[in-house]
Amino acid sequence: MLLLTRKVLPVFILISGLLLTHATSANEKVVLQLKWLHQFQFAGYYAAKEKGYYAEAGFDVTIEQRDPLITPTEAVLSNKADFGVMGSSIILDRMKGLPLVALGAVFQHSPLVLITLESSKLLGPYELKGKKVMYSKGNDDATFFAMFHQLGIKESDFTHIRQSFDSDSLIRGEADAISAYLTNQPFYFKEKGINIQVINPLNYGIDFYDDILFTSEQTVRKNPQRVRQFVEASMKGWRYALKNKSEVFSWLATKYPSNKSIDHLRFEAEQTENMILPDIVDIGHISRGRFQRIADIYKQQGLVAKNASYDGVIFTDYLEKNKALPLWAKVLFVIAIASLLLVLTLFALNRRLKKMVAIRAKELSQAETHLARYIDIVDRYVISSQTDLNGIIIDASKAFCEVSGYSKKELIGQPHSIVRHPDTSNATYQELWGTITKGKPWGGELKNIAKDGSCYWLDAKIDPIKNEAGDICGYISIRQNITDKKQIEKLSITDSLTGLNNRLRLDEVLVNEFKRMSRYSLQLSLIICDIDFFKEVNDNYGHLIGDEVLVSIAKILRLHCRDVDVVGRWGGEEFLIICRETNIDGAMIVAEKLRALIEDHIFPQVGHKTASFGVTLVMPKETVEEALKRADQALYRAKESGRNKVVCQ
Ligand code: GH3
Ligand code: MG
Ligand code: MG
Repeated sequence: MLLLTRKVLPVFILISGLLLTHATSANEKVVLQLKWLHQFQFAGYYAAKEKGYYAEAGFDVTIEQRDPLITPTEAVLSNKADFGVMGSSIILDRMKGLPLVALGAVFQHSPLVLITLESSKLLGPYELKGKKVMYSKGNDDATFFAMFHQLGIKESDFTHIRQSFDSDSLIRGEADAISAYLTNQPFYFKEKGINIQVINPLNYGIDFYDDILFTSEQTVRKNPQRVRQFVEASMKGWRYALKNKSEVFSWLATKYPSNKSIDHLRFEAEQTENMILPDIVDIGHISRGRFQRIADIYKQQGLVAKNASYDGVIFTDYLEKNKALPLWAKVLFVIAIASLLLVLTLFALNRRLKKMVAIRAKELSQAETHLARYIDIVDRYVISSQTDLNGIIIDASKAFCEVSGYSKKELIGQPHSIVRHPDTSNATYQELWGTITKGKPWGGELKNIAKDGSCYWLDAKIDPIKNEAGDICGYISIRQNITDKKQIEKLSITDSLTGLNNRLRLDEVLVNEFKRMSRYSLQLSLIICDIDFFKEVNDNYGHLIGDEVLVSIAKILRLHCRDVDVVGRWGGEEFLIICRETNIDGAMIVAEKLRALIEDHIFPQVGHKTASFGVTLVMPKETVEEALKRADQALYRAKESGRNKVVCQ
């Protein structure tokens, strides 16, 4: 047990010592230098200490009474004290270059006044001319000096008496007016039953702050936040003290001994509150305007150079400055915020873009599918091809391959004329190329030939293709297969037995040619041909042989008529030849030639047959019927005159 005690005890002491050291070192030791001796004037500071506000803020405060040998300003600047309480002279000292900082103005008005005995009838500053006035020369007299200066009273107008701090000087007549504190001396005279008169500079426009809590600039710069905490604790103390004056009186009786009676303290407390004005102003509030005014008064008195500056005397400036970020940090902050906004904006934009791209991609994919489907349909069902400027095929649809019988491979690289039918006239192609090479579309019906030699008809639309510069770079053709239509057309106008134009077609051609003739004043002739004694053929050889004779004669007529002539079966064994742009002589030659050819022809089984011809020239303005009737009459005459004849009428 003893061994244990001997071993453990030193460790315990060491730990206890460390804890104790830590506990005491937790609170920063500071000294507050008061402006005067302990009295209610400093109640707030006592309260801050006694109520633990300083301790809460981490301060262990020693409150020092005024040392007559050293001013609070000197104490603070020489680091004998950390904080001090002083009057408006702080502003003057700052302008003189002393690095002092006002932390809070507790007394909104200065209690420093001059008092006279009421019996002396010295009611105002003017009455003091030629009198003895006692006050402290130095910073304290600033308010008096300012007051006299304001009223045009010079220092030489009265006799200045050195401050004795003895109020009885006034009673004894050693001074006619003495400086005094409103919070203090009036009570002294009241107790003695002596009536006094107060000459307050405030009433003459001189309103100074007093009891300003201050420190050195060095302390502020070292840690402005700690100073702020000290000020806040002090002002909290002041708020408490003014509400709990009796408690302050008890401290002034014990801890901060004051030789004043309780009544005196009560008077002082009341007057002090009048100076602090806690109901009107936040305790400790500093007004820049008032500081400026006080500084101006000091300058007017010549106590400091006109251009002297009190910059740096107001504590809050340091807090704001301290709060303010350095320029580089501000720039960095702005850049960071801007970057963040940029990133967020880009992020939002990116998301929106991605969404839009996804929608567009889907739409595009759908459009591509549709397009592919349409292209496939067009490829399969639309006969189309594309050529270069020289008509060389560079593309062909499946439908075109199908109708032409060629594969795509066989078509590409070939001239488009590969599908041209020999029946199609050069004129048609000249018109086609003449149109499209001028950049205009061409449309028309074309007869084509397939790979197997069969023919097919297309209704073609050919369009020139132009490049961005507007120059033609090729041709595209879209066609419709009209072979069926063409065949039906042909059937409707063809005589099924002979293959010649039928009566319907002949009627149509007659109408058109009559119109053309009158419009262009052309000549038009008609030839009617009738086989002689054809009935006999039927009767002797039968209808089929008769038909063969009809077919043979039709062939003779078709082959030996001119291109311009239109040959057709007019009915039974009669034929009509419409001779375009032909006069009567020309028509007679044609008819005669045909007559001779028939006469010379040997028809199988039947042998020779002849035909009679009636020829007429169409007269201007006559009708088709009139002209045909005349041709018929001519034919009749040919028959009458022995057949195998050509007669014109
Ligand atoms: P002509 O003209 O010289 O006076 O004597 P014709 O015998 O030719 O005269 P007609 O007009 O009397 O006889 C015409 C005959 O032609 C009557 C008809 O049997 C015959 N015929 C008309 N159309 C056809 C046909 O399509 N086929 C055949 N085989 N015979 C036809
Ligand atoms: Mg006949
Ligand atoms: Mg006949």
